[in-house]
Amino acid sequence: ARNLTKHFKVHGGLGRGAGVVHAVEDISLALPRGTVTAVVGESGSGKSTLARMLTQLISPTSGELLLDGEPVRGDAKSRRAYTSRVHLVLQDPFSSLNSVHTVRYHLERPLKLHAGRRLGREELERRVLDLLERVSLTPADNYIDKYPHELSGGQRQRVAIARGLAVEPEVLLADEPVSMLDVSIRLGVLNLLDELREREQLAILYVTHDIASARYLADSIVVMYAGEIVESGDAVRITDAPAHPYTQLLLSAAPDPERAEPPVLRGRGAPPSLVSPPSGCRFHPRCPFAMPVCAEQAPPTLQAPDAESARHVAACWLLDPEHTPTTSAEPDVP
Ligand code: SF4
Ligand code: MG
Repeated sequence: ARNLTKHFKVHGGLGRGAGVVHAVEDISLALPRGTVTAVVGESGSGKSTLARMLTQLISPTSGELLLDGEPVRGDAKSRRAYTSRVHLVLQDPFSSLNSVHTVRYHLERPLKLHAGRRLGREELERRVLDLLERVSLTPADNYIDKYPHELSGGQRQRVAIARGLAVEPEVLLADEPVSMLDVSIRLGVLNLLDELREREQLAILYVTHDIASARYLADSIVVMYAGEIVESGDAVRITDAPAHPYTQLLLSAAPDPERAEPPVLRGRGAPPSLVSPPSGCRFHPRCPFAMPVCAEQAPPTLQAPDAESARHVAACWLLDPEHTPTTSAEPDVP
């Protein structure tokens, strides 16, 4: 994705003002094959809007998508081809499956659509069983004729992932795929994503509010705040040595694995309105380190102190030697 931006018009009403929501601002990211990239942020950070632009469910206000370096075109044929290569798995495994249909029905449909030719009954069944095995619903015979209500949340999410695999995608986008599941089965679904990354060399985008699970699963982390990337790079470096105050706050609020609800960053306010985002650094009203420059100018994206390469960057004035409080307070040393 190159320079993706999404602005929505809102018409106000019931105490809400009309205006333009700056949902996603100028985001570029690469999803290499065989890797997991996590997009981490609170609700309202723009992460789901970003995922929807990446699947072409919504079109960007500006910016472009590229596959294998080629710009993705907007005509119907290119869009169909794109959809089979980039698949979205949604958060809610309960509403994404239709309760009146069996697992077989849910998986046959995309297989038929994707095959581009008639598939015989036996071949279709063989392919459905293969999909179930690829998501570790085994023995597959036990699952093929089940209805969604006969499955656990984790099993349903596996069926939803299998449905995505039916079109043989290269990129899987998973928007909060485990946040509605019981804590005890989350790890199993994250491990499945990791197996698919490794075995099928998928490029996976994992969208989450939970930075601890991002560290567990992802190779790279992109931290979003108020529609912008504030920090990105190697998952271990970012979580071991976060350079951006917002990432530090997220880590300090990282949920207890036993707790189901998203972290609340208590005592430090809420994410800003995206109709009139704060000036300068959008995080400045909540930032414990804010300096005068922070409210005036948007910070540049700079290499983090621990970065050996440009693999770990953050958008914060603290990384600019001219603005760090310690250096500016010290006299020049000859
Ligand atoms: Fe805080 Fe300023 Fe850095 Fe923004 S630029 S995170 S306000 S120190
Ligand atoms: Mg969301």
